[in-house]
Amino acid sequence: MRKIAILGSTGSIGTQALDVAARHRDRFEVTAIAAHSSAEKVFEQVRAFRPKIAALTIEPKEIPEDIRDCCQWMFGESVLLDVVRACEADDVLVSVVGIAGLAAVMETIKCGKRVLLANKEPLVAGGELVTAAAKAAGLPLLPVDSEHSAIFQCLQGAGGNTPERLILTASGGPFRTWEKKDIYTATKEQALRHPNWSMGQKITIDSASMMNKALEVIEARWLFDMPAEKIDVLIHPQSVIHSMVEFADGAVMAQLGTPDMRLPILYAMSWPERLETGGKRLDFETMKALTFETPDLDRFPGLGLAYEALRAGGAMSAVLNGANEIAVDAFLHDRIRFGQIAQLVEETMHAIPVTAHPTLDQVFESDRLARVKALELLATSRFAV
Ligand code: NAD
Ligand code: MG
Repeated sequence: MRKIAILGSTGSIGTQALDVAARHRDRFEVTAIAAHSSAEKVFEQVRAFRPKIAALTIEPKEIPEDIRDCCQWMFGESVLLDVVRACEADDVLVSVVGIAGLAAVMETIKCGKRVLLANKEPLVAGGELVTAAAKAAGLPLLPVDSEHSAIFQCLQGAGGNTPERLILTASGGPFRTWEKKDIYTATKEQALRHPNWSMGQKITIDSASMMNKALEVIEARWLFDMPAEKIDVLIHPQSVIHSMVEFADGAVMAQLGTPDMRLPILYAMSWPERLETGGKRLDFETMKALTFETPDLDRFPGLGLAYEALRAGGAMSAVLNGANEIAVDAFLHDRIRFGQIAQLVEETMHAIPVTAHPTLDQVFESDRLARVKALELLATSRFAV
């Protein structure tokens, strides 16, 4: 029986994690759940899972009587850290959005609990620190992001051989075949319509701009200790191959499956064992062709910025991430064009000096400076809609 805490329990990943936990009640006990503001959803989850701790950043007006005393309630800005410290858990699934998860990831490691990592932004912003802390504590970082889970799964069968190359696959998103000028003026509704995956808003916009793949290149650099030159991105519109690794002899190992996040979520929860997810199986007989394309950095400049940030090193990836969080929010609030997301990130990166081997405080400071700069740029006439 493994005890699990879920940070971000009401989101796309969090709810799917609860779904697989419910499927295997004999294997997983959900001991804590935390979310931002969706109190009604948290109330339902408390009724269904009876965790010992339930937490919300924003305190609801009232807690329904039937669940008021059945668990410890926690509220407030620092709730993620409070939950990590107080919860009785072997594993903490970090599935909040954005850099908000970084402090929680570091605290989880400090408390000697395993991190199941869906939230990619902490690794993008503070990858060097997070991976060093996990290594020093002798704790694995179990990836939930489907591409990184695929690579992790391939490496389980690699007999200790180090791969020569990682190949991250990408669906290409809703604008894969669009012309540059049309991508530039794409609307929110168009950007939020992902062809293969149903996810939270932020990652869906990131997928459309391919900034998601940029974040994933940086995530892979740290999770698998691979230099950027050995991490390639390949467009694979069917999302059947979730990523691949290539070895010295040219052998390529891949992990395939239907696009269903319950597999990588449950694999992180049950590793090294495999359990039933309730998802559909691949049907090779009816499967259409698997196709591949080279990503177009001219139409999707965000992807190139990942390599630029990794070349610059230090806290530049934190700058990229902070600026992107501001840019996505600005796009979702109709303040900039879709095509200006990458432009804002790039200009912010060029305006902020890089801090080498940053401490955690310096990562947060670079993130803050990036946000201030991005907001400053947003206020100029060039970034009007
Ligand atoms: P989501 O928006 O659907 O859910 C986010 C959850 O986190 C919600 O429960 C929300 O209440 C909570 N939350 C957000 N900010 C918080 C804060 N500051 N404090 C406390 N709780 C907070 O997002 P999602 O799609 O589930 O994605 C979560 C993370 O997983 C992201 O980093 C994303 O990049 C990554 N990821 C998601 C998918 C996917 O299929 N959805 C796939 C791979 C990686
Ligand atoms: Mg992914």
